[in-house]
Amino acid sequence: MRDPLARLREATERRDTAGLRRRLRPRSEDHDGLIDLASNDYLGLSRDPRLVEGAVRAVREWGTGSTGSRLVTGTTRLHRELDQRLAAFTGTPAGLVFSSGFLANLGAVTALSGPGALVVSDQVNHASIVDACRLSRSRVVIAPHRDVAAVQRALADRDEERALVVTDAVFSVDGDLAPLRELHQVARRHGALLVIDEAHALGVVGPHGRGAAHEAGLAAEPDVVLTLTLSKSLASQGGAVLGAPEVIETLVDTGRSFIFDTGLAPAAVGAALAALDVLAAEPELPARARDRAQRIRLLAEGLGFETTGPQGPAAAVVPVVLGDPHAAVRAAEICAEHGARVGCFRPPSVPPGRACLRLTARASLTEAELTVLEGALQKVRAETGP
Ligand code: PMP
Repeated sequence: MRDPLARLREATERRDTAGLRRRLRPRSEDHDGLIDLASNDYLGLSRDPRLVEGAVRAVREWGTGSTGSRLVTGTTRLHRELDQRLAAFTGTPAGLVFSSGFLANLGAVTALSGPGALVVSDQVNHASIVDACRLSRSRVVIAPHRDVAAVQRALADRDEERALVVTDAVFSVDGDLAPLRELHQVARRHGALLVIDEAHALGVVGPHGRGAAHEAGLAAEPDVVLTLTLSKSLASQGGAVLGAPEVIETLVDTGRSFIFDTGLAPAAVGAALAALDVLAAEPELPARARDRAQRIRLLAEGLGFETTGPQGPAAAVVPVVLGDPHAAVRAAEICAEHGARVGCFRPPSVPPGRACLRLTARASLTEAELTVLEGALQKVRAETGP
């Protein structure tokens, strides 16, 4: 009999040889003295004393765990407040907090589609949307990236009565934006709901960081549903679905990742509420994060690197394309050796031949830190350049 783990070891070795092995690298509380250009802490709030205090106060009052499903004992007064404040902040009619953004996408897509429905999903949507499509038991059409005409064709050619179009607002690795207004026009014309994942847009995109749907004037539309995470610009943990009361009631009754999951921990709720307070008190933070992203982009392009994403300060993600996974890993190492922690994305997270560094801006990035990054990228250029 063959050792059942031998096959796993061999597969891991093959990934290692191909430069695709992933490793857990615990960081210290100060990112090992490196400048953080890898996290999704876009507003630099994860250690803000106001958020820490919000979390601590919530723990003192409500305890360490929420103690049950939100439908049983897991909804505290704080959870209801966060449901409502996320809706008010994004300009949507109603909200429902989940215990992660992943589960919010799973819940929204599966509960709003199902057997006998069509789901049209962008080719590079986040893995949580990909899995939600698979679990929906709907017919799924994967549309080429940002291809509104393909979405239109899929909707027009369908036999199913019900349909859902689902897209990231800011694509998580490429940092580019979905054509939301055009997608909404097409969805409306064909009687489909449009689900927009605001994970990387909330707190960054649009005036005061109210998100991409708000900026596009779509947040209050009855056929638009937003999903989001509390773990990026809000520097907490958890997720939410926002939309019409009918959508929220459907999720409460039928969203499996809502019903059968324990409610979000009070500390995370308290921190997210405090983050919304900070955004109200410092409405300039989102524009500052976008400005820093633009600075990073210009700096990388100035050194001859290919970047993707929108030209101009629209979001906080700046990918620097290197192509080969070994080169990307080495580039990330060089950055770390020269003071900057950057993300390194390889297939299957990106298409073959498109391994990249993923640099993320933070509102609090200083001139001195940008200079360190420039020095690190110069070293990468010197070692990997043409
Ligand atoms: N959607 C997108 C676009 C994401 O990037 C992520 C997180 N990486 C999620 C959803 C999942 O959110 P969470 O981490 O809160 O589960």
